[in-house]
Amino acid sequence: MLRRLRKAYPGTRCPLLCRTPWELMVATILSAQCTDKRVNLVTPSLFEKFPDVRACAAADPEVFARSIRSTGFYQNKTRSILGAAKALLEKFGGEVPACLEDLVTLPGVGRKTANVILGNAFGIPGISVDTHMIRINRLLGLTRNADPVKIERDLMELVPQKNWTEYSSLIIRHGRECCVARRPDCPRCPILEACPFGRARGGLSGGRRKNLKFSRRNSET
Ligand code: SF4
Repeated sequence: MLRRLRKAYPGTRCPLLCRTPWELMVATILSAQCTDKRVNLVTPSLFEKFPDVRACAAADPEVFARSIRSTGFYQNKTRSILGAAKALLEKFGGEVPACLEDLVTLPGVGRKTANVILGNAFGIPGISVDTHMIRINRLLGLTRNADPVKIERDLMELVPQKNWTEYSSLIIRHGRECCVARRPDCPRCPILEACPFGRARGGLSGGRRKNLKFSRRNSET
């Protein structure tokens, strides 16, 4: 699956524009209930006005909220980001910690955001379970759970640790481009053969059915 996803979505990486772990944390908090495209439109001027943790900790909440208004839920996001900046100054010397247990103590940072930061800012593999990851891994039969923490544990057993961040990014991209909620494009899916849902739906074309039989025969020998 990893090989096929990599081939289908070359160059996949975190789509949020950022230069530091702190910027990635801000962008990830802003991306809740918002598109990455919208976040990337907002963050360049935001990071100019509030360039670092210290500037955010000292920011006027109303001014900050105005700058991120178009990302939605801006009052909550303002509370989270300014709260996280203050907590970083108080507890971590103003630095974003490279540790999941520390990250999840910050306002607005759950396991999903923490794993995005670990994987993409520090190169520490992490499985981030968002709505695409929940839906697609259930369709693929890789988990029966609906709780993100349990899904994360199931996937940690199945996906090689060094590929955790890559797998999350690829599945999220797959969820945006092909396995879209309510109308998955199974006939075009690069991992159709591995997907019980897609196969039950009859997503295999004649040629792909023949290849599947062939690869099954080979794997049995
Ligand atoms: S076969 Fe269909 S349901 Fe399964 S992962 Fe692919 S697009 Fe999604």
